[in-house]
Amino acid sequence: MTIDFDRDGGPLDDAMTSARSGAMIANHTGRLILTTEDPSASPDGEKLIAAMARADLIGARLDERSNRLGTGPRDCAYRIGDGFLSLVSFTGCAVRIATAPDPLAPFCHLRFPPLAPHPQLYAGRNTRPPRCRDCRGRLENWRERTAQWANQPDLCVPCPSCGATRPPWQWDWKEQGGFGRRTILIEEIFPGEATPTDALFDLLRAASGIGWRHFYVRD
Ligand SMILES: [Zn+2]
Repeated sequence: MTIDFDRDGGPLDDAMTSARSGAMIANHTGRLILTTEDPSASPDGEKLIAAMARADLIGARLDERSNRLGTGPRDCAYRIGDGFLSLVSFTGCAVRIATAPDPLAPFCHLRFPPLAPHPQLYAGRNTRPPRCRDCRGRLENWRERTAQWANQPDLCVPCPSCGATRPPWQWDWKEQGGFGRRTILIEEIFPGEATPTDALFDLLRAASGIGWRHFYVRD
């Protein structure tokens, strides 16, 4: 196994100049999303960030201009820390992880969106229709319902196959999407390319007092 760390930054200013001149930007590779098992939980963000910094999961804070995905006004983003690879497990025999900030190309980093006021759907082009937990029937028209879910988060969704009703986050989205209020986004990770270790789940549980889960989303 080869781990090729590209830790020291490249010619960031040149790259940012070409970003402004409209260079082609590659598709989003994907992200690994960590969130609480209970999607309505709201653990303290500062405590989580402090615990991740102590474990060297995260390193220096990133300038938003260094990130091709951009960040919201209240988001914050960090470089990966020296302990990252002992807490996130990569598959494959030759792992190459770009870690230097680059406004044009994918690089591995962590983002912390602000706490959402209610469970928010994270879904992308890898997301498949969720299944009913009673009959395994699929909710084929889920994409048409997302705007309604954003406005009426407690709306129950009847199963087209068996009629059972449950809120959208209680459908089975597998690891292709999901709901949460407090999320940690690990960019840019192809779905399934990396998984959180038990040690990472233990760290999050210790910092928040509750259990965590993960899934993947590609924009
Ligand atoms: Zn059903």
